[in-house]
Amino acid sequence: MAFLVKKYGGTSVGTVERIQHVAQSIKLAREAGDDIVVVVSAMSGETNRLVAMAREVMPAVVDVRELDVLLSTGEQVTIALLSMALKEIGIDARSYTGAQVKMLTDSSHSKARILNIDTDPIMNDINAGRVVVVAGFQGVDEQGDITTLGRGGSDTSAVALAAALKCDECQIFTDVDGVYTTDPRVESRARRLDRITFEEMLEMASLGSKVLQIRAVEFAGKYNVPLRVLSSFKPGEGTLITYDDEENTMEQALVSGIAFNRDEAQITVTGVADQPGTAYAILGPISELNVEVDMIIQNIGADDTTDFTFTVHRDEYQRVIDFLNANNDKLGAKAISGDDRMAKLSIVGVGMRSHAGIASRMFRSLAEAGINMRLISTSEIKISVVIDEKYLELGVRALHEEFELAE
Ligand code: ASP
Ligand code: MG
Repeated sequence: MAFLVKKYGGTSVGTVERIQHVAQSIKLAREAGDDIVVVVSAMSGETNRLVAMAREVMPAVVDVRELDVLLSTGEQVTIALLSMALKEIGIDARSYTGAQVKMLTDSSHSKARILNIDTDPIMNDINAGRVVVVAGFQGVDEQGDITTLGRGGSDTSAVALAAALKCDECQIFTDVDGVYTTDPRVESRARRLDRITFEEMLEMASLGSKVLQIRAVEFAGKYNVPLRVLSSFKPGEGTLITYDDEENTMEQALVSGIAFNRDEAQITVTGVADQPGTAYAILGPISELNVEVDMIIQNIGADDTTDFTFTVHRDEYQRVIDFLNANNDKLGAKAISGDDRMAKLSIVGVGMRSHAGIASRMFRSLAEAGINMRLISTSEIKISVVIDEKYLELGVRALHEEFELAE
């Protein structure tokens, strides 16, 4: 018997039949004695459809207050239908919008932060033996205005509820059956992980494994909510995301997963003055353009100049190059060059902390595959390299093999 939050994403509630299927799984868990709070997303495609309609009506600047009123309707549909489906099969249930729960947030429409959750009404229902069905992705601010938490925000709603209600586990049901050692579309021998730490999951997520919203993982780590990713279609244990405890460390693999990001671009500014303020002169204005810079590498200057390389998202490449060229009278670079067909490839694992030589294994394996590394960056639990995008698949498979991640 456990107290669980179960979150179902858009594809899991994408049709009426699927909603009925979810109701059946909840019935089984209920009959096994679990207390359950369900969080649902809108039916798949619904939020996009609503956004598109809003853009049609207000093409230039969408009014964010009204947009949130509109977007929150998607989840309101699914909580009602799921509660009906549950009642239809004899399970007492009650639906709540974000405002009814009182999922209190700040007033930053479309990216609101959760401030507080009123757990009393939910606990009253749970104690009365009901299943509580809460709309994900939405909240309410001090003024009573409807807010939303940002795309994919139902994951965060679920984790926040699990934290506030002190649930045993927050289960995220999605269309994949867990977190994999790498993307199975690239390496068919990728394996589902039984466990992974919050830290590793954060690295995997920010490096492009889009199973969970990053914010939800951060939230779960901060409040120590065990998080489990499972498939709503295929039964199984899924992947449990927790803290690195002793039991976990003992069986710890050196590398837990291979993450990658395709849409990278690299920009090099050659022959700038090797003196205080140069990095700031280049990167300051770029951050003012609202461009996110990822890796940053500066060479030791040979004469009195130095070279500077950094990566940005591919979509920003041309804008940054144009900007640097336009301002080169101030920067005084000998050349500004780059390549927008790059990819980032990373190995992630808490096991790296206690083992030397992992980087050299990675580099040897890539060398044997004939892959040139353009940039390298490391942190405690991750090593990333930037390579030509056309070698990405090859690189993923080579590293997957090298670190024995297959079945
Ligand atoms: N329905 C929202 C979205 O599509 C929230 C979610 O699915 O988590 O982004
Ligand atoms: Mg979603």
